[in-house]
Amino acid sequence: MQSARGFQFLLSPGPTPVPDRVLNAMHRQSVDFSGPDFIALSDKIFEDVKSVFQTKSVVHIYTSNGHGGWEGVLANLLSPGDEILIPEVGVFSEGWRDMAQALGIVCRTVPNDWRTAIDANRLEEALRADVDRKIKAVLFTHVDTATGIVSDVKAARQAIDAAGHPALFCVDAIASLATTDLPMDAWNLDVVVGASQKGLMMPPGLGLVAANDRAMEASKTATLPRRYFDWQERIKGMHYQRYAGTAPEHHIFGLREVLDMLAEEGLQNVFARHRRLADAVRAAVEVWTEGGAFELNALRPEQRSDSVTSMLAGPNLDVGALQAMGRPMNLYIGSGAGSMSGKSFRIGHMGFINEPMILGSLAAIELVLRRAGVAIGQGAMDAAIASLAAAEPARTMANAAE
Ligand SMILES: *Cc1c(COP(=O)(O)O)cnc(C)c1O
Repeated sequence: MQSARGFQFLLSPGPTPVPDRVLNAMHRQSVDFSGPDFIALSDKIFEDVKSVFQTKSVVHIYTSNGHGGWEGVLANLLSPGDEILIPEVGVFSEGWRDMAQALGIVCRTVPNDWRTAIDANRLEEALRADVDRKIKAVLFTHVDTATGIVSDVKAARQAIDAAGHPALFCVDAIASLATTDLPMDAWNLDVVVGASQKGLMMPPGLGLVAANDRAMEASKTATLPRRYFDWQERIKGMHYQRYAGTAPEHHIFGLREVLDMLAEEGLQNVFARHRRLADAVRAAVEVWTEGGAFELNALRPEQRSDSVTSMLAGPNLDVGALQAMGRPMNLYIGSGAGSMSGKSFRIGHMGFINEPMILGSLAAIELVLRRAGVAIGQGAMDAAIASLAAAEPARTMANAAE
């Protein structure tokens, strides 16, 4: 029996690898969270975290995972019996819908298959049909981490505007924040939800919710019960109230480091790196799929997300067996999520990742596929390397020296 040794390139759709810089920043003794040093750090975090959302609006920080962020959005914007619209994009739009229903919200959906992104025209039609303007909010998932599909947030915003509908536009960016461009203010998004453990390269534990003035205004009159999640309580000005209690200090130390790292690289470069690495994954997977054992879940190339790639297994592919074969060599192969569990596998490519991690993981996955006797096309690694080589023509040795 082989023991798992060596680094695990955790190409997971969350939690993702945590940089040593972030781990080191978190590895320290607790501090007095109401002392001047921590308050100064915290005040700066609340300002600087806005840059990740590309917004000037307030960002609320919950000591929670992404689900906590979801609940915070619903509890602050809605009242019992309110109606909302949820374009169906996959596992995570279902999850947010189920949570809303549990809170007493009436949910309408724009039905869709899980292999293409939602068509903004259908969103517009659904909103036009709401002549009494009963729909209070549209919940929209940017990247569905199960289907691997990225939806067009800008087009969705335009659809809402074209319908002249006043619904608040709330975007789940948990799997796209700091991987894929989503300028909150430029695109006039009312609410954007994130979480620490995906593109933000941190351990799970922070739910982040950016809310613009319209959303903050709506939270003054919405009547769903809330206290911990209450935005109005959190902006009253007291340091303690911003966190509704003890600050998640160590996560704040980590977040400081993450914000510095993102600023050093530059957000646009972060997005470009994700695109480049995702393209390499897709190039390899497309070659594998020539063998017919599995296919890319996202049917349209332009709708394949730069955060995660999801493969739909054919009837003869045992995903669990592949995962089990990978584990002894410390290779992680992502499971399918929600109702895609067992029927798909995933390669996450978000956060603290680079070319060697991508190439190493792809090669190791191919090794497992070959050992398992899965029919795959030949030349996937070549295709991945060629994709990366073509993506960086400016970074030749000669240029790098300049
Ligand atoms: C991971 C994820 C969630 C859930 O986040 P948790 O931190 O697991 O609660 C929600 N939406 C999307 C798009 C996700 O990727």
